Amino acid sequence: AHDVHIIGGGLAGSEAAWQLARRGFRVKISEMRGGGGSTPAHQTDGLAELVCSNSFRSDDDEKNAVGLLHHEMRRLNSLVMSAGEIARVPAGSAMAVDRDVFSEEVQKVLESHPNIEIVREQVNELPGEGLTIIATGPLTAVPLAESIGRKTGAESLAFFDAIAPIVHHDSIDMDICWMQSRWNKGDGKDYINCAMDKEQYLAFHQGLMDGEKTEFKQWEADTPYFEGCMPIEVMASRGVDTLRYGPMKPVGLDDPRTGRWPYAVVQLRQDNKLGTLWNMVGFQTKLKYADQISLFRTIPGLQNAEFARLGGLHRNTFLNSPTILDRQLRLKGGEHIRFAGQITGCEGYVESSAVGLLAALMAADQLAGRSWQSPPRTSAMGALLAHITGDAEAESYQPMNINFGLFPPLHDVKKKQRKEAYTGRGKEDFTTWLAARGEAPNSH
Ligand code: FAD
Repeated sequence: AHDVHIIGGGLAGSEAAWQLARRGFRVKISEMRGGGGSTPAHQTDGLAELVCSNSFRSDDDEKNAVGLLHHEMRRLNSLVMSAGEIARVPAGSAMAVDRDVFSEEVQKVLESHPNIEIVREQVNELPGEGLTIIATGPLTAVPLAESIGRKTGAESLAFFDAIAPIVHHDSIDMDICWMQSRWNKGDGKDYINCAMDKEQYLAFHQGLMDGEKTEFKQWEADTPYFEGCMPIEVMASRGVDTLRYGPMKPVGLDDPRTGRWPYAVVQLRQDNKLGTLWNMVGFQTKLKYADQISLFRTIPGLQNAEFARLGGLHRNTFLNSPTILDRQLRLKGGEHIRFAGQITGCEGYVESSAVGLLAALMAADQLAGRSWQSPPRTSAMGALLAHITGDAEAESYQPMNINFGLFPPLHDVKKKQRKEAYTGRGKEDFTTWLAARGEAPNSH
């Protein structure tokens, strides 16, 4: 018998199992690898396998948002962080690990824990009852993904993330751009517009054609993608004017400097409720990152753009969490089911593990009959959770790494000191939250 059934023994599932078990709850993990199933990216049967890079990114908890997330997870006795420490290899200010040592350590801890049972089996249906955490990741086995899709509605489950680049608002030159919605619809000022003249547009089009692209992996190429998420360079290759009839359409937009419609336009739409992040509408792309940065900085008004994330197109199963999950990561209309990890629409090893940790705390509180208090919005965990469960714009919801754009802005602090101000504020508020929970925090 178990208190919580965790499906998926990847990063999120392993962290969640540890957090529940160390609080005295009995956990069953179902992991399909080693039980006849696998994904196109995993190579081993080990729990918490890192499928690509071996990096947990920056470990700097004063100037970096993911470093702050490391700090908070350590304070909650994270297994991913402690196993990462044991497996650590030199990587400057980043935290990188030996992936085999890391996975073996996680597996050893979970296998030897008396409260944890690990079953090697593939689950094909959402369980009808019992507290469940679904942590099956970006490559969730198809039958289970279909079962989830039947429950949530197919439009709430994506198989690709077609990512348009996201720009930090304070790096956009608003002396060059202007706010207006096409034909002044809505409140008339919903979009940021960057105008191009003919010469600029033709050079930009050529840049798209010449830019270096990343290739689809075979298993990605086999998954169909829809017109709605076609990369801009594919559109550009269909004809020099195709983009001017698509995402770069200038009609109904009056450039205040000329009073006329420009030749072409790039539009940015608000991406989070805070208004700190704006996405480039329709600009999903498979251009290599370096080429994206140099080409997109030729767009008038974006010459100094800082990107919270660059464009991409990847196989990735994820939910439209802001619409279908409640603030506790539970499926609306199926509250015994929680989601955790990348399937919720966070992005990255550390973020996925952090959401697994949060799901476990929520389940533990529920089992103990305590009411749940989310971590403060100013902490990395709180910011990530708030983004996933409601603050992101549902319409353009795309997986996201933790970044300072998800934190309540500190406009009054000088730009140079802002990062330390974010992390300082976050740590203080997180400490208060930990104390209120009665956690015995690690002394990190
Ligand atoms: P996973 O770690 O994938 O765990 C999910 C687990 O569920 C797997 O063990 C899987 O076998 C199991 N499972 C799936 N379906 C079922 C089922 N029906 N029944 C039972 N078990 C099931 N992030 C980074 O930070 N750096 C990177 O370099 C990076 N590279 C990536 C490369 C690829 C190709 C992909 C797809 C993602 C990458 N990510 C990367 C993103 C993300 O951080 C990782 O995918 C991360 O492992 C997600 O953690 P998770 O726990 O949500 O899922």
